[in-house]
Amino acid sequence: MSNLDPHAAIVVSDLVKSFGERRALDGISLEVRRGELFCLLGPNGGGKSTLFRILATLSLPDSGSAVIAGHDVMTDAPSVRARLGVVFQSPSLDGKLTILENLRCGGALYGLRGAELESRIRDAATALNLSDRLSDLVETLSGGLQRRAEIAKCLLIRPDVLLLDEPSTGLDPGARLDLWAALEDLRTKHGVTVLCTTHLMEEAARADRVGIVSAGKLVAIGTPEELTSALGGDVISLGVAKEIGADLLSKRITEKTGLPASVVEGEVRLESREAYNLAARIAGDFPGEISSLRIARPTLEDVFVARTGRLFADEHLEPDSRPAPKKKRH
Ligand code: ADP
Ligand code: MG
Repeated sequence: MSNLDPHAAIVVSDLVKSFGERRALDGISLEVRRGELFCLLGPNGGGKSTLFRILATLSLPDSGSAVIAGHDVMTDAPSVRARLGVVFQSPSLDGKLTILENLRCGGALYGLRGAELESRIRDAATALNLSDRLSDLVETLSGGLQRRAEIAKCLLIRPDVLLLDEPSTGLDPGARLDLWAALEDLRTKHGVTVLCTTHLMEEAARADRVGIVSAGKLVAIGTPEELTSALGGDVISLGVAKEIGADLLSKRITEKTGLPASVVEGEVRLESREAYNLAARIAGDFPGEISSLRIARPTLEDVFVARTGRLFADEHLEPDSRPAPKKKRH
């Protein structure tokens, strides 16, 4: 792909990956720039973890390529691994050890020792605001602190790129905010490129850029502002009285207003830069045919709806890939 920036931290070109009949990735191309906090947003089952595992050199695509910090994940996995920190959805720390002991073990696995290891541990603990918690047993820490300790472990190799798969899973809203502040810091103060997957809109809205995936395809990419302002204004959602039906009402509204009204999950939706005036007009023009009316600033969810024609909800989940019941998903 000649139009992709050769200095990008991550370049993904036309990746395809199937599991039997199911195409988990259906030709995804995207690029993450150096020093960017990039969020891959998609519903459960959209293909995020499949892409994550390929980037983390844990799984091979059927076709296409992915290059991280100049190294191809398929032909040069060791060089990729040397530049990459990876935080998985499931915890990887030993709860019976302290943070410091976990970091020492992690560092030893990377071949670090002595004064060099201790200095890197200090740096990583400082970056994640953990310096005064190093002697705490991991199992006694809150979920948010545990996640930060995991990220600290990844930083020991001083990676160019940090990959995180749904890092806020199971965290309460306060811990999520802390985690995001830590990721923003890593990007700003330490120049680390961060690629993070999520199914939470509010989280993705804080990223520098967002790639939205659905059914293994990239359906939108850009800054959150670019994506939402590309919509035609505020979003009007109309509940429909049973008698008329959503299809007929949307057709009549389109005829009357000249604006494309669509039907999403039984509601009629349209976008307008004059949403309040327009909504009042529609309510007056179709008395008795509208059961509810909502006007909202466009969100990334609306971008998803506009690009896919579907609400943001779980996609194609196999029973064995559903989230484990004991893990809290928001
Ligand atoms: P996400 O991380 O966005 O929730 P995944 O990448 O885990 O999505 O899954 C994408 C699709 O691929 C889903 O339909 C899922 O059921 C399927 N899938 C993922 N991993 C496997 C696997 N190892 N075997 C069979 N199907 C899989
Ligand atoms: Mg996943």
